[in-house]
Amino acid sequence: MKAVSHTLADTQDLITESFGDSILRHLIYSVGKDISHAVTRDWCVAVSLAVRDRMVEGWIDTTREIYKRKQKRVYYLSMEFMIGRLLEDSLTNLGLADEARAFFEAKGVNFHDVLHAEQDAALGNGGLGRLAACFMDSMATVGVAGMGYGIRYQHGIFRQNMEDGWQMEEPEDWLVEGNAWEFRRPEVVYDIDFGGSVVTDENGKTVWKPTEQLQALAFDLPIAGWEGKHVNTLRLWSARQSESMNLKKFNDGDFIAAARQQILAETVSKVLYPGDHTEQGRELRLKQEVFFTSASLQDLIRRFFTNYESLDNLGDHVAVQLNDTHPAIAVPELIRILMDKYDYSFDAALKIARETLHYTNHTLLPEALEKWPKGLFERILPRHLQIINMIDGAFYQEAMAKGLEHHIIAGMQVIHPHQQDWVRMGNLAFIGARKVNGVSALHSELMKETVFHDLNIMYPDKIVNQTNGVTPRRWVLECNPHLSDLITENIGNEWIADLEQLEKLAPLATDKAFQKKYMDVKLANKKRLADYLLERTGVSVNPAAMFDIQIKRIHEYKRQLMNILEAIALYNAIKDNPKGDWQPRVKIFAGKAAPSYFLAKLIIKLITDVQNVVNNDPEIGDKLKVIFLPNYNVSAAEILIPGADLSEQISTAGFEASGTGNMKFALNGALTIGTLDGANVEMAEHVGHENFFIFGMEAHEVAERQHRRARPSEIIKDLPRFQQILAQLEDGTFSDGDTDRYKDILDNLKHHDYFQVVPDFEAYWDMQRHIDGVFADKSKWAEMAILNTAKMGWFSSDRTIRGYAKDIWDADLAF
Ligand SMILES: *Cc1c(COP(=O)(O)O)cnc(C)c1O
Repeated sequence: MKAVSHTLADTQDLITESFGDSILRHLIYSVGKDISHAVTRDWCVAVSLAVRDRMVEGWIDTTREIYKRKQKRVYYLSMEFMIGRLLEDSLTNLGLADEARAFFEAKGVNFHDVLHAEQDAALGNGGLGRLAACFMDSMATVGVAGMGYGIRYQHGIFRQNMEDGWQMEEPEDWLVEGNAWEFRRPEVVYDIDFGGSVVTDENGKTVWKPTEQLQALAFDLPIAGWEGKHVNTLRLWSARQSESMNLKKFNDGDFIAAARQQILAETVSKVLYPGDHTEQGRELRLKQEVFFTSASLQDLIRRFFTNYESLDNLGDHVAVQLNDTHPAIAVPELIRILMDKYDYSFDAALKIARETLHYTNHTLLPEALEKWPKGLFERILPRHLQIINMIDGAFYQEAMAKGLEHHIIAGMQVIHPHQQDWVRMGNLAFIGARKVNGVSALHSELMKETVFHDLNIMYPDKIVNQTNGVTPRRWVLECNPHLSDLITENIGNEWIADLEQLEKLAPLATDKAFQKKYMDVKLANKKRLADYLLERTGVSVNPAAMFDIQIKRIHEYKRQLMNILEAIALYNAIKDNPKGDWQPRVKIFAGKAAPSYFLAKLIIKLITDVQNVVNNDPEIGDKLKVIFLPNYNVSAAEILIPGADLSEQISTAGFEASGTGNMKFALNGALTIGTLDGANVEMAEHVGHENFFIFGMEAHEVAERQHRRARPSEIIKDLPRFQQILAQLEDGTFSDGDTDRYKDILDNLKHHDYFQVVPDFEAYWDMQRHIDGVFADKSKWAEMAILNTAKMGWFSSDRTIRGYAKDIWDADLAF
């Protein structure tokens, strides 16, 4: 990795007016309002445009610097970017937050309301999309010449509305009021082809004759790193009908048909698919993947030619990172462009692809590994299918040369030669990539043992690990200002760009005065959260109670079910001994279920049912409250996480690739109850096992039980506490006497229990009661919480990005 010294921007500041004047100018000339008529939303737009102006200077400087230095470019291709709100983030990174606050205070406008008038940009489902957003922040902060590429969905993840405890999906419409951050780039347009056939022309050259064409239009968002020194771009593609195709219809006089075509074309960037770790086997989804991947590759090649003349050494100057298999079509698409547009041989094109592309795997769940019917490829991507067959052919030769057996090779190929019906995107991404990475140490090891066992033997240096991280700007500095102030008072502010400095807090963990200040911050955050919960759900909670929080997508492997069953067990125990010395708890849940995932929706219904019974039981009072907070998103996370005492990270061991929610909580001083899964393993090592509550089976034990299809009934017979819960789910205790409602949950628990709720339940219960005891010792709890904050510095996404730059991209940094 080469270090490039940072040259100061050689443009003088273009903006001479004060920040406040900029806001006013935008209010008047961009929004078209005067102060007396401006509503909160108008102020939000005006201040966003004023910040954006100031980002543009750094943006232009950064772009010029990268061209001048020929810094290696990194392109991060992701179907999802869960960025959330951008105003506070941009104000913070540019150091304008105080000035903005003072301006609005002087104008008598509520600054908090202005910040919150912005809609979340929710172009993702969960962790995978949020990781991409944290990476954008960190690439700009550490000075990677990075660019994000994704889709400008008109509708992001659905809004979750509750009706009688059931999740209802409503369309999300983040663009209706416009997007102050984006720059439309009408001159940046690429054609994307589908369908048709492949023919050989008179010169013997292969030519694809597509029958359908879309255009990809670029929209850019500037992404400023910490202190605004480096500003990168997130380029999102929007789909429209290609002009030539549309013109023809218009000229034929068929306006309706032309308009219909236009609408069909636009559906490609219309909605985000709402699945998380579930397969989305729909043609439109494949088109989305091809659409944004092809546009991005065409765009980066165009940019490459502004610096270089030949694509031979593309991989020396460009690294492309594929976030999961969603952009795996990049492998045949890059080869296609090289062969069909630039006349490379297949072998040369494959070599270049394998020097340029890198793939991040996010799951070992078999149902989440993308595969497409071969017939679909034949119909919409005939040329890509041809190239995939060539890749398989070349791969076969390579494997034979290494002495591998035919049936082993077959299992690794993109299309299995004897089960010719599926195109397996994981295999395609692996074979086409230079490096393949997992997202936690455990996950990377399990990749080698399971999905990519044979491929790892064939390419033993290909799999590397890069444990995920989170950006400390959003996930401490902005979401937890009181904690940030306390940290800075004690160790200075360098931790913001160098999170491992938090270690300096460790000696203060036993300092009583510091403990008090730290816990005062926690209490203030819990009060803020309590107000928010009251406003959003009508449930009032006691801030002195333990706030026990599980917020993430609802999925069986994440085991919200085990958590709510434990709440029922606790309810029963309190009812048995209402005068007992119970540690008051508030159990908070939030998360969306994929619309087609019935069991996940039923788990939400169960949580809200338990909430209704427990919260209205006068004998329970403050001892236990259960809350399901609807419509979990980034902005909700920013309020929930700083207010947590206990973080629930209880996935079935071996199933959570990393998790990043776990990191946000621990950094903000919540203690974790968790399994040895994903990044929990490394978190426990960093903060010390004595400061982390680990319970339950390990990954190999889970695998062993699943392998021999161990029956839950054998365990249940010895668990009276669990039997009582099952009986209550059966007799309608929580369902107004409806004895049928949880049939599917019961059937699952009693007969299948693939995600091992039953065998882990008692260990979970025991650990929760142990935690009750620790929480009662206020000083001990404070010490442990402080040590969590102090030792979590390694989990900054800045560290992760430096790791990618060094081990995967071979990219230099600007600073
Ligand atoms: C961090 C984050 C996630 C990921 O949470 P996990 O607990 O790691 O699954 C999902 N959604 C949002 C809004 C987040 O901020």
